[in-house]
Amino acid sequence: MKNMSLRQIADACGGQLYNAEDSLTKEATGVVMDSRLVEQDYIFIATVGERVDGHSFIQQVYEKGALAVICEKVPSEITGPYILVQNSFEALKAIAKWYRMQLDIKVIGITGSVGKTSTKEFISSVLAQKYNVLKTEGNYNNEVGMPLTILKLREEHELAVLEMGISDFGEMHRLSEIAKPDFCVITNIGQCHLENLGSRKGILKAKSEIFDFMNKQGHICLNGDDDMLATIEDVNGIKPVRFGLGIENTVYATDVKSKGLFGSTCIIHTDSSTFQAEIPLPGDHMILNALAATCVGRILQLSDEQIAAGIASVPSVSGRSNILRLNKITIIDDCYNANPVSMKAAIDLLKLAYTRKVAILGDMFELGKNEVNLHYEIGTYAALSGIDVLICVGSLSENMFQSAQNANSIKELLYFKTRDELMNELPKLLHNNDTILVKASHSMGFERIVTQLTELG
Ligand code: ATP
Ligand code: MG
Repeated sequence: MKNMSLRQIADACGGQLYNAEDSLTKEATGVVMDSRLVEQDYIFIATVGERVDGHSFIQQVYEKGALAVICEKVPSEITGPYILVQNSFEALKAIAKWYRMQLDIKVIGITGSVGKTSTKEFISSVLAQKYNVLKTEGNYNNEVGMPLTILKLREEHELAVLEMGISDFGEMHRLSEIAKPDFCVITNIGQCHLENLGSRKGILKAKSEIFDFMNKQGHICLNGDDDMLATIEDVNGIKPVRFGLGIENTVYATDVKSKGLFGSTCIIHTDSSTFQAEIPLPGDHMILNALAATCVGRILQLSDEQIAAGIASVPSVSGRSNILRLNKITIIDDCYNANPVSMKAAIDLLKLAYTRKVAILGDMFELGKNEVNLHYEIGTYAALSGIDVLICVGSLSENMFQSAQNANSIKELLYFKTRDELMNELPKLLHNNDTILVKASHSMGFERIVTQLTELG
């Protein structure tokens, strides 16, 4: 890590340094919050969590070679160097903010209601064809995960691709202040976190906070097919570059050919070129994500061949439209999370299957006062989509079930109040060769259904 002496770290977070006389000339080699990740000369930030108090691992991390700990309280027997702070989470953010400013790298910040993680994977796969890239691991996109990702940057990295997720006003402003993005990519303005953000207009406002601390000579890449994002025409002199399926966008796709659940092919057009792309993940939304990556790749001067190679090698992410091909059945594992936009996208994906299509859909949370209507809408959408079996699970999903029943067009429709009730019946409901979509909000715990199906399949 660059310029990470204990004095500099203490100054960055406004903490008091103790027991450090013998360590002042050393530099930290990493900063982590999980004691299990501590290595030689790392800084361990002790936080008080809901279940575990990180302060109880302080002695242990010194034994593992930690250079110092950052803590909010002082254990009586502490012997090694430590920086005492008022709030460890605030210290983490302050250190990440300071550290980012030391680095001569470009940061690509990605936000939007849906598709951030997928777009992050596309963008980093593309940029890795030319640069040494650090990307957000998994879904570490909040005020803890994003600073921790920044602190993983090493001098050999040339670019950071960061997922930035929020659920309220002000959060993106703080994330932007830490990340200082050179590129801002927004995937779409959907209907997540309506409880805090009120409406799509509110969501647009909250997501637009990403521009607050961006590089004034930076770039903005927006989904041009999104009506709300279309209203952003100029951000302090920066004109957005738009990507989308429509040909009015700077980066767009034509000749889209579906390969069912195996993905699709298309021709991608940029302002200066046209090339064939192979998108290994199915669904039109993945084409959009590939276009976002093309947009960023083009600005960073990758060749068409490099962009196409990055798109073709994008990995699929567990829990997110991950296709599991088993002996007897195919699972579309999308159990990581759900909201109305991604639910519809997943149903569209299931439609691509050539066999009997079964959707197991559960409750979507954090939808605010419209939650009943939004579930109702999904029921109608699923019923009219041409799938064969719809299984609705959970209290809110009773609305889904009712609307599907009213639509009166689905072959087989079932309702279970709880996940476990469904799991008891599930083996009897399946046929050989079924393709089964599994999707709900994270706390419905639908990964257990995926595990059960994997055992059955
Ligand atoms: P989270 O807020 O949970 O971090 P996210 O914004 O990172 O979500 P992903 O995890 O990439 O989103 O995708 C969530 C779901 O939306 C998946 O089902 C995925 O297939 C689908 N999806 C991915 N990209 C898009 C897109 N551009 N538009 C709509 N749906 C998408
Ligand atoms: Mg994500």
